[in-house]
Amino acid sequence: MKIVWASPPNFVYDQTPHYFQALFSAGGAYLRKRFMQHRVVSEAAGFHGGVERVILRHFACHEPADYLVIWSRPWEAQAARRLATEVRQLSPGTKILVWGEACSYFPHYFEREPFDLYAINGDPELVIADAIEAWEAGRDPQHGVSFQKDGRWQHTEKGHILDPSEWEFPDLAAIDGSVYQYWRKQRGQKVDDLSFAVSRGCPINCARWCPTPRKEGTIDRRRSPRDTVEYMRVLPRPYAMFQMHSPLFCMDSDWVDEFIELKAEIAPDTPFKVVDLMNPYADEGLVARLASVGLKNVGFGVETLSMKGRHMIPKMEPSLLEKVAANLKKHGVSSKAYVQMGLPGQSREDILYTLKVLIELGLSPRPTGSTPFWKLAKMTVEELDQTDLTKWDRKSYFDPRIGLSYREFLAIVHDVKGYLKDNQEILKWVA
Ligand code: SF4
Repeated sequence: MKIVWASPPNFVYDQTPHYFQALFSAGGAYLRKRFMQHRVVSEAAGFHGGVERVILRHFACHEPADYLVIWSRPWEAQAARRLATEVRQLSPGTKILVWGEACSYFPHYFEREPFDLYAINGDPELVIADAIEAWEAGRDPQHGVSFQKDGRWQHTEKGHILDPSEWEFPDLAAIDGSVYQYWRKQRGQKVDDLSFAVSRGCPINCARWCPTPRKEGTIDRRRSPRDTVEYMRVLPRPYAMFQMHSPLFCMDSDWVDEFIELKAEIAPDTPFKVVDLMNPYADEGLVARLASVGLKNVGFGVETLSMKGRHMIPKMEPSLLEKVAANLKKHGVSSKAYVQMGLPGQSREDILYTLKVLIELGLSPRPTGSTPFWKLAKMTVEELDQTDLTKWDRKSYFDPRIGLSYREFLAIVHDVKGYLKDNQEILKWVA
């Protein structure tokens, strides 16, 4: 049996390499472990800028692969379908499976030819491996998927989850380091990060359309602190820092205490960065302890402040923000404060005010558009076919109703400090 684990060729600006490392390449590594007697090939064409033929060659040969598993985020859905259509023509016997956020937001898009199965929930690598195993044994898939049988779509029970000890680490061979560096430079980043899964699931479940609880569930599940720290002993080249792939790094305080203790003992100097809620970093003692074992950067969602004190989501206490900013500065930890442009009820002045406040506090805003994937969920398949989905990534999707011109939107996304510096009158206006 041969399985091709692929991301479809599709160039977008925001390639989010850490998703490729922690989800795509680690998922392929899991399948390789599950099917040791068989061949599992990873083709990260969407990351490498590979052309379709890189993948098609596995199906145009004497013994075409038995399974094509495509990872599709919303902006890749049409590329996924193009690839699937070509593969169906070349090799009608190949089963074509698809997983990823596109399946969470608009599953109906995939409920048609040439797809045989799409993953809905559960840990995708487990759900997909179990479905393949079932088909190989002549049975139907049992959980976490919808699949086509005799021209009809069948739905299964909720997807199962893996014990975190079975989450694989990134497959370094799946992503070419030189391509990684090329993309990193294009995105203006200074450091190469190696991302791996530390936790999955978000109990906060604060935003109805946030993909994390939909994909990973609402229970915080984590790799053991020891497995985490053991992996961090050695940072492979060309990477200069670990990125802990986790929606809420400090959610479990016992886990964090044990992590700090082991990190100090086993890999005290390996630098790392995290993504989290902002609140835990108001505790100076915690910031100091994390910084002492290599924490270099924290990314957290501010999303928006309200210039006129309206109740916005989330309700942000400026005093908390000040405390966090002071603690991070004191302990030499840099920040990435995520800001969304285009949230319901948000005005142009709110956006500019938010950016100004963050910069004045010494925090680094990371503005993106607010991509309304819920709109895609409500579209018919015909409407989805007629929509250019490649524009639905968070740095390309632009809705003029946010009150900014397209020029301003792009200027803010790509160089917010430069934008504010060039527009001193705006700073005065929101002062
Ligand atoms: S806390 Fe973050 S990850 Fe969790 S639901 Fe809210 S936005 Fe999503």
